[in-house]
Amino acid sequence: MTGQAITDPASAALVFYRKWRPSSFSELVGQEHVSRTLRQSIKQGRVSHSYLFCGPRGSGKTTTARIIAKAVNCLDPQDGDPCNDCDPCRTINAGRFMDIIELDAASNRGIDEIRDIREKVNFAPAQGKRKVYIIDEAHMLTEAASNAFLKTLEEPPPHVIFVLCTTDVHKILPTIISRCQRFDFRRIASELIYGRLAEITEAEGVTADPEAIRLVARHAAGSLRDAENLLEQLVVSSTAGATASR
Ligand SMILES: [Zn+2]
Repeated sequence: MTGQAITDPASAALVFYRKWRPSSFSELVGQEHVSRTLRQSIKQGRVSHSYLFCGPRGSGKTTTARIIAKAVNCLDPQDGDPCNDCDPCRTINAGRFMDIIELDAASNRGIDEIRDIREKVNFAPAQGKRKVYIIDEAHMLTEAASNAFLKTLEEPPPHVIFVLCTTDVHKILPTIISRCQRFDFRRIASELIYGRLAEITEAEGVTADPEAIRLVARHAAGSLRDAENLLEQLVVSSTAGATASR
């Protein structure tokens, strides 16, 4: 399976995963059952106060959480999708929006972090319409922290939305699960990953052996993030003379 190595004429520092992160529901790959429902609820103004996103790593949970945050703060949503053009959308895309608060529960798993949220949650948004708390690896919260969080989930102020993301829903308290609208993200099919990688290589102007891309897509085992990182490594190493063959 020797193919032509991937060549990257620009050889600039590429961060495919971040650069090609979907900025709207319509760009999400392989999670139509999730994006369709979320777009609909935003169109109808029936957004939940707490979401639980379950599924394998790299399937788009945090990305989707950020798109929700953008859609609820967008001044001109298009068919339930953020416009990516108004002030809030641009600020969010630039990573400078103060009302999106991300907490990685893998490294902030204790009660102090949750108390901090509980204290600040009542303050009105600083920039936008809604404050969105994204809690990654939510199953890593300690039991004490989870119980403290439960109180906030029970009576969230109207301007707040919580999005809990987890790869391991079985470790989350049933009382938390029952208070959230749950979405199950799927492992992304390798055909879909292949399609996305092909789009990226074309847009980046890199020549890639389709067989090598197919291999990357399969190897990523359902994680688009892994696939994009692998593709990037391949592009970078090919400029150093490596080949895409196995
Ligand atoms: Zn907008």
